[in-house]
Amino acid sequence: LEANISPMARNDEEWSGILIVLHNMTAVRRLERMRSEFVANVSHELKTPVAAVKGFAETLLAGAMDDKETAKSFLQIIYDESERLNRLIGDILELSKIESRRIPLQFSPIEMEHFVEQTVHVVSAEADKRGIRLESSVPPNLFLEADEDRLRQIMINLLSNGINYTPEGGRVRIDVEPVEQEEGPESYERVRITISDTGIGIPKKDLPRIFERFYRVDKARSRSSGGTGLGLSIVKHLVELHKGTISVESDAGLGSRFTIELPVIHDS
Ligand code: ADP
Repeated sequence: LEANISPMARNDEEWSGILIVLHNMTAVRRLERMRSEFVANVSHELKTPVAAVKGFAETLLAGAMDDKETAKSFLQIIYDESERLNRLIGDILELSKIESRRIPLQFSPIEMEHFVEQTVHVVSAEADKRGIRLESSVPPNLFLEADEDRLRQIMINLLSNGINYTPEGGRVRIDVEPVEQEEGPESYERVRITISDTGIGIPKKDLPRIFERFYRVDKARSRSSGGTGLGLSIVKHLVELHKGTISVESDAGLGSRFTIELPVIHDS
């Protein structure tokens, strides 16, 4: 708590009272703490791939280059880690742009059946490669006002997670449906988009933290599937920029279900 105390004078001789202004500093401090934690996390996340690149390059220079097979596998690691670094930097920049509201959204009407078909197509090669079935169900003539690129980014992120965290032979599905309208002047029509998988699921204790930056249930698994730990926080921010909500239900071992609800009409 921060206090400012100043005398209140009626005229030059007489005091009429004292004005005490109390500022609640907890919110400010919390923001500062969150920011410095984020910087610490970012540095840590960036250091890991940089250390790998440096270490393997050093070993190559120290003589490992002479053996062709070793050299090739080390170069592959250097390449993969550079790619990872690239993705991390891209996600960090994206998140910082979104958080500081530096991305103006371009709203336009989107026909969902066609949109979902296009979006599923983007991830279908990856799903095929991993032996995962993609399914979708969207009613015809359902329109939604959204920023098309951002909505696609949201869906691709969730679909890719579904594919990444589902073992071979499983399935990922996407369902779109209008939400039953509630009575009352405040309510507007909403659309519900559900992305579910039959994958490894998320333990109950981790569910509340899943949208936090860099939070991962299993770091090793996320790393090996190329994850940055930022995907879901980007998704949550983008959904909120659309004045929507996102929630998750999951059972470890049985799969996960992410539910997004977005207003049909965007009124700024
Ligand atoms: P990552 O890049 O690690 O996938 P995300 O922010 O997208 O980061 O997700 C955070 C964490 O949430 C993941 O590391 C993973 O542990 C968990 N997760 C996200 N989606 C799923 C899913 N569909 N099934 C199981 N776990 C998931």
